[in-house]
Amino acid sequence: MNIHQLPDVVPHVIDAKLTVGEGGRRGDVFDPVSGQVARQVALADTADVDLAVGSALAASLDWGASSLSKRTQILFGWRQLMAERVDELAEIVSAEHGKVFSDAQGEVRRGLDVLDFATGIAHHLKGEHSEQVSKGIDAWSMRQPLGVVAGITPFNFPVMVPMWMAPIAIACGNAFVLKPSDRDPSASVRLAELAYEAGLPPGVLTVLQGDKEAVDRLLVHPDIAAISFVGSTPVARHVYETGTANGKRVQALGGAKNHMVVLPDADLDVAADSAVSAAYGSAGERCMAISVVVAVGDTGVQDRLVQAIANAGRAVVVGPGSEPSSSMGPLVTGAHRDRVSGHVDGAEAAGANVVVDGRGYVPAGHGGGFWLGLTLLDHVRPEMECYREEIFGPVLCVVRVPDFEAALALVNANPYGNGTAVFTADGLVAREYARRVQVGMVGINVPIPVPMAYYSFGGWNNSLFGDLHVHGADGVRFYTRAKAVSSRWPQQSSGLELGFPTHH
Ligand code: NAD
Repeated sequence: MNIHQLPDVVPHVIDAKLTVGEGGRRGDVFDPVSGQVARQVALADTADVDLAVGSALAASLDWGASSLSKRTQILFGWRQLMAERVDELAEIVSAEHGKVFSDAQGEVRRGLDVLDFATGIAHHLKGEHSEQVSKGIDAWSMRQPLGVVAGITPFNFPVMVPMWMAPIAIACGNAFVLKPSDRDPSASVRLAELAYEAGLPPGVLTVLQGDKEAVDRLLVHPDIAAISFVGSTPVARHVYETGTANGKRVQALGGAKNHMVVLPDADLDVAADSAVSAAYGSAGERCMAISVVVAVGDTGVQDRLVQAIANAGRAVVVGPGSEPSSSMGPLVTGAHRDRVSGHVDGAEAAGANVVVDGRGYVPAGHGGGFWLGLTLLDHVRPEMECYREEIFGPVLCVVRVPDFEAALALVNANPYGNGTAVFTADGLVAREYARRVQVGMVGINVPIPVPMAYYSFGGWNNSLFGDLHVHGADGVRFYTRAKAVSSRWPQQSSGLELGFPTHH
């Protein structure tokens, strides 16, 4: 299927069937390059949610009891089909999100990495066993599925973030209900279609299109056992508080303000290239995008770094994601572009120095699209709104500090704690940074330190509400619950004993 064959109304996938549901509410899905409405998406109402969860609950009973080899075979099939369709999925992502095609390919491949991990589920679900914990008694542990679990995902990774969740939840024996972003919903339907083509039983993977109405029903639905959420911090907090108040296990990953600390001994040209790649890739619409460069040292070093970033940035070509010459596309919607652009206005009014100004930029022949050129703000201070708020666009702030301790204190005072990077030639200083920084994911001369699928992804502080990170070992723990068994064979009475059991 290519982008031109997508339906006029993006449907749900309930019980392995495409349906626009009963509710009749619709949302607009834009083409960010032209600014026109490309199609619509069905928005689930409460009755649609209840129908979908009912189908998932019924499916979870057999699926939770299915053999590990059956689950693994289906996951391998799904992996194969998805690997054959990387370009097709990337085309859909690029068309609805706006990111350039090569970036969208990268996102699909990172999603595939989690499927790779999930195919090894038999190993990850192995329990422990202790023989003879007391005379004639053995003890062992196992992890069992939760039942129906839901995932609520953001617009910025319409393939990768759902794939952080669905393969592991399903591999663990759960039915998974995905509520994707209504801004770029089509890729989720293709992911589910491929899973069913691979032999997944109906109802094990549901796609429920929708907005706040669907989310708020999922948060209180009695048959949803756990919720994985990825999105902005205010919504993450709402999802965590409401979900846990309703007895659900919740992991809610929120927004970010990721700092890249550049020490004076770093190679400034390498650091500048890394800053530009990490700040402007995907138009800054990445939760791991670098949004603040902390320039450490004297004015001369700081000036050289800012100049190197500005020079590297001027080489970035902004244009439609489908054109191979483009390295950065438009923003996802006009409203989001205006919000980001407003932050630049506010920063300028507050005294920041606009070194590179992307406001008003339009690639030739593409008026009407949601464009913003890359923007570099220098002399940003921590009290400015552009520093305090997550901007989520192609805007990089530079904060100047005199030394390492001031840089570390700045990063640790920030309420977010998703990712950070330090650029330096000094291993001891890098080690000190990694040890003392209050952030969940740290890069040493690596600007976007996204862990591989077999590690777990997650931030600290306002970047994650909950205890367990996503994918890797934490993912398996999140989607299962532990049981400990003590057994004695043959049955034999040791007489009446009302004291607390001990091994003595
Ligand atoms: P968002 O919070 O607006 O939406 C996320 C999901 O929540 C969507 O499915 C949306 O439909 C739903 N939603 C939106 N408003 C809601 C409300 N009031 N009540 C209930 N549900 C609601 O986020 P977004 O704009 O789609 O994505 C960008 C945000 O996601 C950024 O803040 C980014 O940092 C964050 N993000 C974080 C990570 C991470 O790993 N920490 C990864 C990707 C994106």
